[in-house]
Amino acid sequence: MSRAHDHLIERLERILGPGGVFHRPADLLVYEYDGSVEGAVDTAAPVAVALPTTTEQVAAIVRLANEFDLPVTPRGAGTGLSGGAVAQRGGIVVALTRMDRILEIDPEDRTALVEPGVINLELSEATIPGGHFFAPDPSSQKACTVGGNVAENSGGPHCLKYGVTTNHVLGLEVVLPDGRVVWTGGRAGHAPGYDLTGALVGSEGMLGIVTKALVRLTPNPEATLVELAAFPDVESASLAVSRIIAAGIVPAALELMDNLTIQAVEPAYHAGYPMDAGAVLLAELDGIAEDVRAEGEDVAVLCRETGATSVRVASEKPERDLLWKGRKMALAAMGRLTPNYYLHDTVVPRTKLPAALRRVAEVATEYDLPIANVLHAGDGNLHPLILFDRRQPGAVERVLHASHELLHSCVELGGALSGEHGIGTEKRAALTLVFSADDLAAMAGIKNSFDPKSCFNPEKLFPAGYRCGEVRALRAQALAQKLGIYAM
Ligand SMILES: Cc1cc2nc3c(=O)[nH]c(=O)nc-3n(C[C@H](O)[C@H](O)[C@H](O)COP(=O)(O)OP(=O)(O)OC[C@H]3O[C@@H](n4cnc5c(N)ncnc54)[C@H](O)[C@@H]3O)c2cc1C
Repeated sequence: MSRAHDHLIERLERILGPGGVFHRPADLLVYEYDGSVEGAVDTAAPVAVALPTTTEQVAAIVRLANEFDLPVTPRGAGTGLSGGAVAQRGGIVVALTRMDRILEIDPEDRTALVEPGVINLELSEATIPGGHFFAPDPSSQKACTVGGNVAENSGGPHCLKYGVTTNHVLGLEVVLPDGRVVWTGGRAGHAPGYDLTGALVGSEGMLGIVTKALVRLTPNPEATLVELAAFPDVESASLAVSRIIAAGIVPAALELMDNLTIQAVEPAYHAGYPMDAGAVLLAELDGIAEDVRAEGEDVAVLCRETGATSVRVASEKPERDLLWKGRKMALAAMGRLTPNYYLHDTVVPRTKLPAALRRVAEVATEYDLPIANVLHAGDGNLHPLILFDRRQPGAVERVLHASHELLHSCVELGGALSGEHGIGTEKRAALTLVFSADDLAAMAGIKNSFDPKSCFNPEKLFPAGYRCGEVRALRAQALAQKLGIYAM
């Protein structure tokens, strides 16, 4: 190792103590990855991983990175699915997992002040006994951190009714790329001036490091009901989704799973999903007891009208939990069907779900790849799971082509590139499918004003070749795309 490297490690250890810095190759190995499929995103090793426990330490690390002219990549639990936490250009990974304290729960104000490394589910578990929960509930909620949720603007099954992370963040303490510490937003509601909290949520760790989050808590509902409707196929199930929403009912969650998913889940968890169903719809209704009962009846009628062969109602918690276990563990159950899967994430207008699912089936046939479907259907958010075995020659390439095809199809249907997993490195090349060069230049302006040296989580989000303030490359790419010579 060079003297500069040794000097950097020594300075980091002065800030964090010897246990707060990883720098040996074996220790760094795990930080080369996040939850993404290798091949869909590149892996990359940082020079060092810093594990701070205070905001002051985070600020000192960032100032040190500036001094050494090194990039900085924030990292939570590393469950991200778009390569966001991978240190694409090396430098220092700042892992926030040791900043994991819930600093304050205020039931009267319905807020909690937390450090970024708090695990999503642990926040809800800490607040539920006091009458509240933290509504954003990614399926990874047993592992992912609030800091990661903020950076990715994460969603989850219950975000249909309650909104995604941005709807639950009131304020943020942030270490900026030059090492200054600022607060955005706060308890007082809509403060005048630019909405910096809004800009930071979903910014994928490119504008600053979140060191505290003031989040909104949601009151526990008086009553909850879960219904499991079985359909002959995914199209009739997705038609039911549109009808339910069109009837003015907003379920707390509305999740769809296809037959292939049921084949994986049911033998593993015995959730009670009919094995012969083409698809099941899991609808959760919550709120005032009478409303929940009435809406539950309406949902059952709408499901039957659109072809449901059975509707099962679960009002008791153990039965509800079992139905949910099947959904929440669906990805884990895929191991029964395949050694590897690529979890795709796109979103289309709800009414386009039947067309999008038809296209998924066509792509599965065209590429000879089984694709299971798990959907946050109420939001039009598709998660096709492309099943494969990476040991087979050419399998990864086939999966990437199929995935590219799916992305294009959803965009053509009026959809977006990602429903909730972010862009990271996984989809940066595809950004020009939906944004013009001027759109991207406007976004680049925001990045540039926070991070003029472009050293915070570089090579993410914006298409390759982009540098701060430089939009020529983007224009060239947009032109190439128009001419049909754009390659992902
Ligand atoms: C099985 C599985 C299921 C999933 N289900 C869902 C789902 O239902 N909904 C959903 O939205 N996502 C889902 N995800 C994706 C992922 O869990 C979320 O994006 C999650 O919010 C990432 O949190 P993390 O702590 O793991 O962040 P990481 O993966 O460590 O980082 C993600 C991004 O956030 C940035 N970041 C992390 N912490 C900070 C911080 N303190 N300050 C600034 N930037 C930071 C990183 O730089 C990176 O860009 C799933 C993932 C898996 C593996």
